[in-house]
Amino acid sequence: MSNPATVHLPPLPYPEDALAPHISADTVALHYGKHHAGYVANVNRLVAGTPREGAPLEDLIVTTTGGLFNNSAQVWNHTFYWRSMHPEGGGDPGGHLRAAIEDGFGSVDGFRKQFADAACGHFGSGWVWLVAGGDDLEVMATANADLPQRHDRTPLLTIDVWEHAYYLDYRNARPAYVDRWIDNLVNWDFAAANLAAL
Ligand code: MN
Repeated sequence: MSNPATVHLPPLPYPEDALAPHISADTVALHYGKHHAGYVANVNRLVAGTPREGAPLEDLIVTTTGGLFNNSAQVWNHTFYWRSMHPEGGGDPGGHLRAAIEDGFGSVDGFRKQFADAACGHFGSGWVWLVAGGDDLEVMATANADLPQRHDRTPLLTIDVWEHAYYLDYRNARPAYVDRWIDNLVNWDFAAANLAAL
């Protein structure tokens, strides 16, 4: 009898080619099928035969350190990243989310600028997030695998700024990836649902 895996690779919310031309099928195939799947395999290998085997991912990302944290957080972050995009994304947020963004950033464009500046300016590998901290929305950057839950913030949306997220399609032009992401892929409905769940 084999041991149950602690974590699974969730299905992509859309086909691998659905984000093209902004993110190519090749990038998604590699990013999801190799990087994301690799983190899943690493977590299961690291917990096998330990008391953490079978622990929920949501527990691992807030209770572990070192390699197990890095890999479990990367599993969580990538699942959240795929859901932060939609093939018919972009445009403007609506309803309660729009009001909260206007409150936090002055305007939707104010948010776009702060988010893009953080994503383009983040040094090295990491993630940029729209987060809720108490009643306020904020833009937050985290390094490597780090995530808002370790900083008492609730993530609403994220963009992956590791080079593997954009290098095949944009080479070193991270700002082009970030602009295309915000203009065409951002999934406002996902962020709105995360905000409504608070
Ligand atoms: Mn990634």
